[in-house]
Amino acid sequence: MDTPSHGLWSYVLWHATPFPFLAVFLGIFPDVVAMGPSCVYSAFRGKFSTSCTTHPRWLRTYRTYAFLYTHSLIIGCAVFFVVAIQFGWQWWLLAWHLHIVVDIFSHPKEKATPFLWPFFGTQVNGVRWWSKKFIGINALLLGGVWLRFLR
Ligand SMILES: [Zn+2]
Repeated sequence: MDTPSHGLWSYVLWHATPFPFLAVFLGIFPDVVAMGPSCVYSAFRGKFSTSCTTHPRWLRTYRTYAFLYTHSLIIGCAVFFVVAIQFGWQWWLLAWHLHIVVDIFSHPKEKATPFLWPFFGTQVNGVRWWSKKFIGINALLLGGVWLRFLR
């Protein structure tokens, strides 16, 4: 799913919690951390793109590992339980996990989400979130829900 939609859905689901904007941050942070530097690099080169084929090796390596860490449910669950032990259950942290779950089913196999990394390489062949059908359905659902907020 696109990054702004992750944030909007996170707000919808966690707006009544004590930290709704932290939930929004966690909803978008996996993509921002993994792809943000590539976007900034591309923007400074005058070619805005998340495609990293022409990026320097260090940036491609960073992106690969950042994507693995931020899109792993195993890493996410480990952080969730460590935070729970220290501070009690922080349900808004699940915005991060929702991001991963949505990505599992909205990325095709060639861009599969490594949700069981580092232990398993299981891949799900999901739908393309950038297809017109997915974007249209997502926009309709988000629009319908956000109309309730704006009333
Ligand atoms: Zn993502």
